[in-house]
Amino acid sequence: MNGSQTGTARGAAGAALATPVLEVVGLRKQFGDHTALDGIDLTVNEGEVVAILGPSGSGKSTLVRCIDQLETIDGGAMYLDGDLLGFEQGRTLRPLTDAGVRAQRRRMSMVFQQFNLFPHWTVLRNVTEAPIAVHGVPSAQAKEAARGLLEKVGLSDKADAYPRQLSGGQQQRVAIARAVAVEPRVLLFDEPTSALDPELIDEVLQTMKALAASGRTMVVVTHEMEFAREVADRCVFMAEGRVIEDRPADEFFRAPETDRLRSFLARSM
Ligand code: ADP
Ligand code: MG
Repeated sequence: MNGSQTGTARGAAGAALATPVLEVVGLRKQFGDHTALDGIDLTVNEGEVVAILGPSGSGKSTLVRCIDQLETIDGGAMYLDGDLLGFEQGRTLRPLTDAGVRAQRRRMSMVFQQFNLFPHWTVLRNVTEAPIAVHGVPSAQAKEAARGLLEKVGLSDKADAYPRQLSGGQQQRVAIARAVAVEPRVLLFDEPTSALDPELIDEVLQTMKALAASGRTMVVVTHEMEFAREVADRCVFMAEGRVIEDRPADEFFRAPETDRLRSFLARSM
C-alpha cells in the first residue's frame, strides 16, 4: 500500500478518505468495426497505484491513451478531479477546443514503452521543456527542479548528455523525470519496461517504486507481475475491452475470482 500513505486524506478518526482523482465511466472506443473498449469503469483515488494487466490486444494501451486524450472516445465519460475530461458537458461527445484539451492534458503525463525523448535535446532540456514552454515556469527554477529530479532517478551526472549516449534504462528514467517535472495529478505508464533489455528493467522498476512510495497517483500498464503485486494498491484485469476484475493487489493474486484471470496468472507467473 505504498502509494496511499502520503496522498490520501485522513479523516478525524484517522481512517483513509478516498478522494477520486480520475474517474472513467462506461468508456467506449471503436476502431472501425472493432470495439477496443466496451464500457470501462475505473476509479483511481489520490495517491493510489493501479496496475492494468491483461493479454495483448485487450485494450490496455487504448485505455491509457484515451485517458491521456491521445484518442477520441465514442461513449462514456472521464473526469479528472471532478472535471469532465475532453468532452463537453451533456455527453454530446464533441471534443473540447484544442486549447481546452491542452489545458487538461497538462494535468497528466504519460511514460511510453519507447521513451520518446527528443533526440536532439540534452537530458536537461528534455526534462525542462514542458515546465518552461507549457507551464511557464521560469527557466532557472525549472532547471533546478530538473536537476533535483535527475538526482532522484540516479542520473545527476547525465544532465548534459544526449539520449543516444544513454542506455535504454537511463533513457526511460529520463522520461520518468520528464513526466514528473510537470507535477501531474496522474502519471500514466504504458509498459515502460517492455522495450528494455532484461538487465535494465530493474532500475526502471525501482524508480517507479520510489515514485509510488512518494505518494504519486499512478496508472501502470505492465507485464511485470512482481511489480504489480508489490507496488500496486489495486490491480485491474482486462480482456476484450472490458474490466474482468478490479481488486486490491493481494486478493487479485491470491484469490482470483474468474477462470480467465486464474489462467492468465498461471500463464504469466
Ligand atoms: P493492448 O495494449 O492491451 O495490447 P491495445 O489497446 O493496443 O491492446 O489494442 C486493443 C485492440 O484495438 C486491438 O485489437 C488492436 O488491434 C486495436 N487497435 C489499437 N489501436 C488501433 C488503431 N490505431 N487502429 C485500429 N485498431 C487498433
Ligand atoms: Mg499495449
